[in-house]
Formats: sequence, structure tokens, C-alpha cells
Amino acid sequence: MTSCLDSMPRAELHLHLEGCIGPELLLQLSERHNFPQGLKTIEDCRRVYSFHDFTGFIQAIKTASQHLLEPADYAVVVDRIMAEAARQHIVWLEVFLSIGILHWKQMEVEPVWRAVEAARLEGTRRHGVELVWIFDGVRQFGAAAMERVVDEALERQPSGSVAGIGIGGDEAAGPAEWFQECFHRARAGGLHLTAHAGESCGAEALWSALRTLRPERVGHGLSAVEDPLLMAELRGSSTWLDICPSSNLRTGVLALAELRKGESPRAEEQLLERHPLPKLLRQAVPVSLSSDDPGIFGTSLLTEYDICRTTLGLSAAEELRLIRNSFVASFMPAEKKQFWLAELDRLTKEAGF
Ligand SMILES: [Zn+2]
Repeated sequence: MTSCLDSMPRAELHLHLEGCIGPELLLQLSERHNFPQGLKTIEDCRRVYSFHDFTGFIQAIKTASQHLLEPADYAVVVDRIMAEAARQHIVWLEVFLSIGILHWKQMEVEPVWRAVEAARLEGTRRHGVELVWIFDGVRQFGAAAMERVVDEALERQPSGSVAGIGIGGDEAAGPAEWFQECFHRARAGGLHLTAHAGESCGAEALWSALRTLRPERVGHGLSAVEDPLLMAELRGSSTWLDICPSSNLRTGVLALAELRKGESPRAEEQLLERHPLPKLLRQAVPVSLSSDDPGIFGTSLLTEYDICRTTLGLSAAEELRLIRNSFVASFMPAEKKQFWLAELDRLTKEAGF
């Protein structure tokens, strides 16, 4: 269901490059590289993405990542991301580039960096969309691997297009405490900080990430609703949660949260209806909306806004607040942020909101 708000400019702050590889592009990459046990048909590719839990998701994103063999493959994905953003009136993107996975694949970072930067500049010229990078590490790879991610980010910071660092992956296998020193060094170097936390684990893991890493934005952070003290800590604070409803459903974290509450298993539609976004928004916890891995989950940012309207029951005013928050929570330079917020005010007034 479309809305007159769909044409409003907005930012997307939580988007993984590898997660933007949809089944069609996965097939193209498989054919291009002629993988020996490759994915031969579109059905094969859809099957890779037909998981319902976190383990299945990790396997799917690993498969997508393994199909990025050359710098040119990365450039193709960047081009798709920016064209798709323009279609959705997204004017500013913050994209996770998984440096941790590049290291793991033993690919040299510099050639990939040059390719994605060239694609970014071309994308801005062609589509009028701006994009900055968040260099991402993987929790279960440990602190030494994350130190290397921070090094790569600090080295390329003068380009002006590396906004910050992030960390994701398995919360249970890589506790936040391991990365305190890495995050401290990145902060001292002037990088912005994000961390996936409170996604597959409960409130304790979120507390731990907030206290030790002090991120400006948290990826997901859904388990905040399980702890009133945590809600009080976040309410009205400057720590933003990136909320991605389809992702939370497909990776099984909504089902896990129900289990932690001692509830019996529910159908997917019911799980989505019970997503904590409305509660977080209405209790003044700073939140913005993103699509996370739209190619893998078969979603888009506008689809996530549609879910907010139709399944989560957000009002037009609440939807507008999410759009506005996407700029406020971004790592945009202050002047640019002021410009887009003023533009949004002008457009909403014009539209009679
Ligand atoms: Zn994510």
C-alpha cells in the first residue's frame, strides 16, 4: 500500500552491502564466476534465502559474500544500491562495508576500496544519492581482527567517505567487552561508532554494548523492551536504535524474544504485529527505520515503512517522525543535516501535515 509520504526524502542508515544481493544478482554472480558447485537457477538462489532463523541467515549472507570475488563485483552491488535508493527517494545512505569479511576471504582491501569508491562517485553523479561507508567487523572473529578493521577505517578516513565503524555477527560468540579498546581507539580517531546489539541476545548483551562500546547507534537493540531500566536509560537519550522489522522476523529474533518471555510459538504474521517498534517510538526511545539486508529478506525501505503503517499501526505523524529521525540519527555533516530537515519541514507543510 503506497502513501503520500512515500515521496518524502529520507535517509537509510543500516544497510549491508552483501545483504543487498538479491536472488537475481546472486545468480548473475554465480554464472559470471562459474562456481563449481554453483547456484544454477533462480530457485537455487531463492532457496539459499529461505531460512527462518539466525543460523540460516548467517549462512545466507556468507553465501552472498562468497560470490563477491573481484572488486568489480562490489562495484556492481554499489551501483544497484544507489539506483534502488533513488527509486525510493532515499537521498543519504550509510552502508556497512564488511572489512572483516574481506580479511576473512583474504581479499586485498585497497582494490575493493578503489572500486566501491568509484562506483559511489558515479552513483552520486547519476542518481543524486549520497553514500558514506561504515567499516564493519565480525564479533566472532575476535578483537585482533576488529583492530585491523579500525586500522583500515582510520587509514581511509581522510577520503571523507568513511563515516565510522560497526560490529555485527554472533553476539553470544563475541561479547562487547572484547572490543572496548578498538572502539575507544576509533572514537579517539574521530570515527562514528555503531554496534549491532540486543538483536539475538537479551537485555544484558545490550547493556554490555552500551557500557563498554558507547556506540552512537545500535543495530536493532530490540531487547531494550525486556528491561524497564534499559528503556529509562535510552528514553530521550542520544543513543539511536536502527530498527529493521522484516530482518527481525526473518532472522528469528522476534520468535526468540517471545521464547525469552515464556510465550508459546506464534505464526509469523502475529510475530510481526507484536514488533516492539511502536512501543519504543511511543516511549520516546530514539529510533529510525532501515531495511538491513533487503536483497536477502526480499524487502526495501519503503516496504518497511509500509509494514509500519499496515501491520504495526503507526499513524502518519509517527511515520513522519521516523522519516525525520533518519536524518537526525545520521552521521551527516551538521550543515547538510540542517538542510534536509528544513527541506522536510517545507515539504510536510506543503503536503498539509
Ligand atoms: Zn545489520
